[in-house]
Amino acid sequence: MNYQEIIDEIYEEIKSTDDIGNVASIIPELAQIDPDQFGVHLTTVDNREFGIGEWGTKFSIQSISKVFALSQAYKLVGDQIWKRVDVEPSGSPFNSLVQLETNNGTPRNPFMNAGAMVVCDILITQLKDPVERFLSFIREIALNSGINYSKKIAKSEKSVGYRNIALCNYLKSFGNIDNEPDQVLDFYFNIYSIEMSCQELSNAFIYLANDDFRTSENRQVLTMSQAKRVNAIMQTCGFYDESGEFAFRVGLPGKSGVGGGIIAIHPDKYCIAVWSPKLNEKGNSYRGMRFLELFTTKTESSIF
Ligand code: GLN
Repeated sequence: MNYQEIIDEIYEEIKSTDDIGNVASIIPELAQIDPDQFGVHLTTVDNREFGIGEWGTKFSIQSISKVFALSQAYKLVGDQIWKRVDVEPSGSPFNSLVQLETNNGTPRNPFMNAGAMVVCDILITQLKDPVERFLSFIREIALNSGINYSKKIAKSEKSVGYRNIALCNYLKSFGNIDNEPDQVLDFYFNIYSIEMSCQELSNAFIYLANDDFRTSENRQVLTMSQAKRVNAIMQTCGFYDESGEFAFRVGLPGKSGVGGGIIAIHPDKYCIAVWSPKLNEKGNSYRGMRFLELFTTKTESSIF
């Protein structure tokens, strides 16, 4: 398959049409970004790499980080995690509070903000220095020591974090947060501030495409069954109330972030990351969704 030719062609096609939507306004620092940046990077399970546009520029990965947090917690506590967070699509926005009331404080899935908070709480309980260890987990699976948090972004998000603060306290009132909400929120705001490029993302996610992937210490990141389950949750819940639409149009497990990034995984084939900051009304990158729809169509490589 000539991936380079295909991504070049789709990139030009999308560039020649209007970009629609707005950059994230919920975090002041993210609202400053140049909306015209657009990058794509694909890594195959046999280590071939293809890129176009701003594939090497780092950006705020935001909720894509929820997949790393889930993977690390799943590795540490195994199936115990499902006692605290469910695996059902929500049909609701990422920061919704409503279902928590009827579900007695059990978040619908680990990719809702509430679910990610419970995952952060588990990591705090399990790890002595969660901020440090979370970063080293990503560096290890990405085989890349150049990945970092952005203090500026974390601080900016915290400064307007009223809804997330409410969510964390609400979870605590149901007994589904063990640590102090302030501590959980500090860690929670940190995980979103990780900055990575499309290239770094498509390389880092290979552990979900390749069952045999090994870190430099020759460690398997997740068992085959765990990787299957993380992919399944990405497929059904990775795009909040647009998860059905993403499955319908693209047909791959994936995860978006309000920084405008999307990662999508074709098990046994490749990982592809797309970044374009303008978001549709559901908080997913407009060009990112469009790119991936055309990509799986032209390469005939959706999982369905
Ligand atoms: N940090 C953002 C929030 O909590 C993440 C949202 C996202 O990327 N969907 O609101």
